[in-house]
Amino acid sequence: MQPKLFAEIILPVPLPGTFTYRIPSDWQDYLQIGQRVSVPFGQRKIYTGIIHSFHTNEPETYKTKPIDAILEDTPSLLPQQIELWEWVASYYMCSLGEVYKNVYPTALKLESDTYIRWIENELPEDAELSAEAQEILQAVKNKNIVSVDEVSKLIHQKNVLKVLKELLDARQVRLDEKLIEKYTPKIENYIKINIDLNSEDSKEAFELLDRSPKQRELFLQLIQLKASEEKPVKAANFIKDYGGSHATLRSMEKKGLISIFEDQTRRNQLYEENIESIEKLSPEQQQAFDGILKGFKNFDTVLLHGVTSSGKTEIYFKLIEQMLQKNQTTLFLLPEIGLTTQLTQRIQKKFGELVGVYHSKMNQNQRVEIWNETLENKYKIIIGPRSALFLPLQHLGLIIVDEEHESALKQKDITPFYNARDVARVLASKNKANLLLGSATPSLEVYHAAKQGKIGYVSLNVRFGNVQPSKMEIIDLRKAFHRNEMTGQFSKTLILAMKNSFEADKQVILFQNRRGYAPVIECLSCGFTPYCPNCDVALTLHNISLELKCHYCGHKQAKPQHCYQCKSVELETKGVGTEQIEKEALSIFPEQKIARMDVDSMRKKFAYEKLIEAFEQKEINLLIGTQMVSKGLDFEYVNLVGIIRADNLLNFPDFRAHERAFQRIVQVAGRAGRRNQRGLVQIQAFEAHHPILKMATEMDYNAMAEQILAERQNFLYPPFVRLIEIRFRHKKEEKVQKAAHYFKQMLQGKFSSQCLLGPEAPYISRLNNEYRFHILLKIHNQQSPKKVKLLLNEAYQQLMQIKAFRSVKIDFDVDPY
Ligand code: ADP
Ligand code: ZN
Ligand code: ZN
Repeated sequence: MQPKLFAEIILPVPLPGTFTYRIPSDWQDYLQIGQRVSVPFGQRKIYTGIIHSFHTNEPETYKTKPIDAILEDTPSLLPQQIELWEWVASYYMCSLGEVYKNVYPTALKLESDTYIRWIENELPEDAELSAEAQEILQAVKNKNIVSVDEVSKLIHQKNVLKVLKELLDARQVRLDEKLIEKYTPKIENYIKINIDLNSEDSKEAFELLDRSPKQRELFLQLIQLKASEEKPVKAANFIKDYGGSHATLRSMEKKGLISIFEDQTRRNQLYEENIESIEKLSPEQQQAFDGILKGFKNFDTVLLHGVTSSGKTEIYFKLIEQMLQKNQTTLFLLPEIGLTTQLTQRIQKKFGELVGVYHSKMNQNQRVEIWNETLENKYKIIIGPRSALFLPLQHLGLIIVDEEHESALKQKDITPFYNARDVARVLASKNKANLLLGSATPSLEVYHAAKQGKIGYVSLNVRFGNVQPSKMEIIDLRKAFHRNEMTGQFSKTLILAMKNSFEADKQVILFQNRRGYAPVIECLSCGFTPYCPNCDVALTLHNISLELKCHYCGHKQAKPQHCYQCKSVELETKGVGTEQIEKEALSIFPEQKIARMDVDSMRKKFAYEKLIEAFEQKEINLLIGTQMVSKGLDFEYVNLVGIIRADNLLNFPDFRAHERAFQRIVQVAGRAGRRNQRGLVQIQAFEAHHPILKMATEMDYNAMAEQILAERQNFLYPPFVRLIEIRFRHKKEEKVQKAAHYFKQMLQGKFSSQCLLGPEAPYISRLNNEYRFHILLKIHNQQSPKKVKLLLNEAYQQLMQIKAFRSVKIDFDVDPY
């Protein structure tokens, strides 16, 4: 074996490549690829780095520093994970360090600006802290909280991270962060009979009930129920089935006949107690299942195109079961775990403790826990959002990406700008695992690949239980306004349908894709509209808080009393948001219980979970919301879905607008009539004859795909080309514009004018006080994306040579979505 003289280390910095460090000679046997080490960087920074590789080539141009400390005995990162990071960095045009920074748990990554806090734990008797650790512990005890930077001033810099790790392991300190509590489901009340029915007591008991026949009847029911069933009796169910109220039960409790108790043990025992067997598949589902298995014989990837409520999830369960038999792991990816409590619970009921749930709301310590448990192979099924791709998964046999078309699978706010669906493909192929993409409305990229025979295709076009697809109606808002049939934003037809639902004791969902009261205020005399001072967007009115808010940067100001420009008091609100719909609905149906689901109303902790629970238990009968309501929810009693204004979806400045409008409408429609009864969907629109609306009402996915794909081919958009969006940002408009133009000039000889578009100010040209310009590059399928990316990197290096442009921030968004 070659001696390990130097190590390449991955550091959390936005610079390309890895960094060379010297290995102290007596450490050779301890170091392994994937291990965490602490290294000095620059003048006085220290970082947690990851060992990428070893070699013997001494760098010629600079003197290497040695690794400071080894932070773990065995690597917490697997070699195949490093390979995946490298793929992500190269494909999405960012540094390996940026991938590391984003996907590796923060709590494992002590850095100079990390803070530590004292936990008031007794130091175990047998604990042997080093002298330096004791010194730091004393400092933390005195100040309660110290930064890693401060620590490094107290002791030899070289040892900082090692000493901190010592304290963390001895449970003396923790990394500072707000702990996010886990959601605990509502505690259920249960009823227990308190007296021995075979004893004398029972006679007395019945005497107590002589004067309350209702209680007597309920008590008898309870006795009967207890005789026939072993399970504890849920108070809520008992009342539902036999009448009475909580008050009746309480007064029986007072008489000592029964006791009502909260079941607190339920949470921990949930998985052991309630394991359900996998459902038997319907013939159609079975056919799809067989089709998928057959597909995997020829392809790595199969698309399951199954209409909403066709029972795709049950098919996933069957596939997972097969993986279990082969002792292989399944990764189940979803757009956003926060929005899928329902699904998580469903999968846990089937597979219990084999399921590891990775949350986006988890705190850092919980993340590390799951990370380590995955490393130890504790779970056979991991369910999570896109970041779960980066867990140390082993024996991977299958990746399922549910709702494959959702744009939330793409990371948009921070590098790497990756799409989980595409990373999943690479992860699957590295592991020789299969990839199943599922959707009722596949993305056109994936659908096209399937039609071209590049991936397998299985369709399932009946709902489970042969529930008919919902009846779809379009309501022409132009006509309705003309005929004076509108109450606010509600047409007569929609109001009538809602009334019918409420009378039949059913529930209704209304969809409006804008939050707030009304998007904008406009002055009737001069046309002035208040804009955000930081961004190029009109402010949205929130009537409940009487504020104008920017939905991009969070800026808030009071609702104006008069026009800022001409002082006129005649201000009109234009457009419609969820708050306004809620207010109008309340005045039309004052007796109904109404709730709103959007980013504003869901900010409070567990607001989402609570609302779902309340809706499930019919404590609410009308739910009004943004696209949040369209995502994979499964409610039994919803038989009407109303779309307030479909036009908002259609007139969006994006080449995917029509595809997304179709998907949104079909997905929202899928929330109606999911069990044994046909649902109704009413779509209100000014452009009632828009072809996309027609196709959506006919649920004609194929027609939609054909039409839009033809347009995309004509105008050169994906899947016929690949896109890279190059985004330039700077506080000074002139500077960013010049930089973008200069960048384009460098590329001009290399791409046709048809494929090199911009620079242009985007739809929102200023955001958070930064001006923005975009260049859009189209790459033909015959071109090598790798070469194109090399060219872009060269141009970037060249641009950075120019001093004036160095402060311009540039993002490459590969496959913007
Ligand atoms: P999808 O994921 O395609 O939207 P689901 O898997 O959620 O559909 O199925 C819709 C409903 O039908 C769910 O309530 C589910 O429990 C039920 N269901 C689906 N398949 C079966 C089956 N084979 N046996 C019993 N119930 C099923
Ligand atoms: Zn703003
Ligand atoms: Zn005015």
